[in-house]
Amino acid sequence: MLLPFKKLKDKYNKYSLFLDRLKVIYEAMDQKYKEAADYYGFHCQGCHDNCCLTRFYHYTLLEYFYILEGYGTLEYDRRVEIKNRALEVCRKTDEADKKGMAVRLMCPLNFNGLCILYDYRPMICRLHGIPHELQRGGQNIIHSPGCDAFAEQNREKSYFKFNRTPFYIKMAELENELKRAAGINQKIKMTVAQMLIEGLRD
Ligand code: SF4
Repeated sequence: MLLPFKKLKDKYNKYSLFLDRLKVIYEAMDQKYKEAADYYGFHCQGCHDNCCLTRFYHYTLLEYFYILEGYGTLEYDRRVEIKNRALEVCRKTDEADKKGMAVRLMCPLNFNGLCILYDYRPMICRLHGIPHELQRGGQNIIHSPGCDAFAEQNREKSYFKFNRTPFYIKMAELENELKRAAGINQKIKMTVAQMLIEGLRD
């Protein structure tokens, strides 16, 4: 089990330097995403198949720290509400998993269709929706389509080269550096709801 955020912060108080570098990677991602979205004329305005209902897993301590940084900027009442939502999402997910049922539950950070911590959202939330390519460690390049809303809106346009690989590499390098510096070697695999629950334990 990962240490709670407070204890991780005490254990390694220079993590914010890494978050500054994470922000630079995120800015480059957002810029490239915007270029692709502008090319297609695709701008997400929500849809019935909201991606915030998808059970996305996140794999870095960087994203864990950053979400919890963002959470700390919110008003007390909002934080309580989010924590209760996150507990409910985790409870319902566990129940569904035990029954072997699929489940789609809204991310606890989504309010009225919008992400309340948009600036702090993890990588996959930033990159979702647009067709892309990815090449992992010397393997073949894999091309993936955009989301359903994208497919409905963009039947005609040819592919805009959107290569996620350099971003994944930069994230992995920074993550490894952070873990080495902090002396942490646990693997991370958490949804946003789990990050909020794990991170806020005493
Ligand atoms: S972190 Fe924000 S963008 Fe990502 S799933 Fe949650 S509400 Fe949606």
